[in-house]
Order: sequence, then C-alpha cells, then structure tokens
Amino acid sequence: MHAPGVDVRPLKQMTGDEEFCEVFLDDVPMPTDAMLGPEYGGWLVAMQVLQDERGSSGTAGLISLERRLAHLASLKGDDRVLGDELVRLLVRGHALKTMLMRSGGGPALSSAAKLMRTELEFDAEILENKLRDANGLLLDERTERFLYAPGMKIAGGSSEIQRNIIAERILGLPR
Ligand SMILES: Cc1cc2nc3c(=O)[nH]c(=O)nc-3n(C[C@H](O)[C@H](O)[C@H](O)COP(=O)(O)OP(=O)(O)OC[C@H]3O[C@@H](n4cnc5c(N)ncnc54)[C@H](O)[C@@H]3O)c2cc1C
Repeated sequence: MHAPGVDVRPLKQMTGDEEFCEVFLDDVPMPTDAMLGPEYGGWLVAMQVLQDERGSSGTAGLISLERRLAHLASLKGDDRVLGDELVRLLVRGHALKTMLMRSGGGPALSSAAKLMRTELEFDAEILENKLRDANGLLLDERTERFLYAPGMKIAGGSSEIQRNIIAERILGLPR
C-alpha cells in the first residue's frame, strides 16, 4: 500500500466514519512474487472475493437474522398500518431464513441472500423509526444504525447489481 503510484482517498460516510476508500493504482511496480495467481487471473480473484463477501449471509448470518426477526416480532405499535408493514417484513425475513436453511448459504444464492437481507434491514430500520414516532428524531444509540442502513444496500455491490447477477447468472435472462 506504500508503493509509489498507490493513491488512497478515504470516503466519508453519513455516519461520520471513514470505513473504506477509493484506491487508485497508477503504474504501480510489483515484484512477480507478489502474484496471487496466474497472469490475467485478477478478474476471477475479484469476483471470488465479492461472492465470498455477499455469501457471509450464510450460517453466521442466519443466527443474526433469527435474532433480528425475534426483535422485530417483539415490537409493538398501536398503528394498524404499521402493524401490517411489520408482518410483511417478518414474512420476508422468514422467507429468507427458509431459503438460507435450504441452500446452506452456498455461492449460487449469495447475491439473492445479500439483496434480501440488506433490503430487509433497510426497511426494518425505517419501520422501527416510524414506530418510535417523534422519538425517532432523537439523536441516540439507534441513530448510527439508522444512518448505516442505506449503506448496506450499496456495500458489497449495490442492490441493482445483485438484481443483474440474479437475472443474468442465476435465471439466465438476457442482459
Ligand atoms: C457502508 C459501506 C462499506 C463499504 N465497505 C467497503 C470495503 O470494505 N471495501 C471496499 O473495497 N469497498 C467498500 N465499499 C464500497 C462498495 O463496494 C461500493 O460503494 C459499491 O460496490 C458500489 O460501487 P460504487 O460506489 O462504485 O457505485 P457505482 O458502481 O458507481 O454505482 C452508482 C449507482 O449506479 C448503479 N449502477 C451501476 N452499475 C449499474 C448497472 N450495470 N445496472 C444498474 N445499475 C447500476 C448502482 O446501483 C448505484 O446506484 C463500501 C460501501 C459502503 C456503502
């Protein structure tokens, strides 16, 4: 990372953190023993890394998903419209859980799991904030989580990219 030509530019998130960066590589000299695999094999390495990142919704993700669903199920509200939204979220969550249990979180479904989980988390954060009514405007221990939720739909490849992968690679639809 300290080689000449490596330019690291941190990106500030709306939580205030700088968790990741843009990294530019301009004619960076590399010794041949730094090769991770065959020459011109970098694309496959990059794709495998991304697939592994998305696939983390597998077994470990299943445990945190179960906890998340239990938390959602414990939420109460007098508003019947929001109650309906909550039930719809729980149904989506249980559909995801069933899919993960049946697939074992394998690579083929990593994009579907990533898409379903991060969209669910985002919608759950919005709903939870609505259920808190005016308290949702307060700056408190939930604020960072709320501000982080949109980023999860982008990190590891945005929802649109996951939909493209599912359409083209899993369903075999035309580009
Ligand atoms: C919270 C967070 C943590 C992150 N952590 C890391 C990290 O640890 N390491 C790391 O390397 N990166 C990290 N990232 C970066 C992340 O991987 C990228 O932001 C993400 O892959 C999207 O790429 P991009 O920002 O270049 O968006 P772009 O590719 O420029 O996309 C911009 C918009 O265009 C849409 N779009 C782009 N192409 C298409 C297409 N073909 N079809 C339809 N729509 C399209 C996208 O959906 C998006 O809405 C993180 C991002 C976030 C938000």
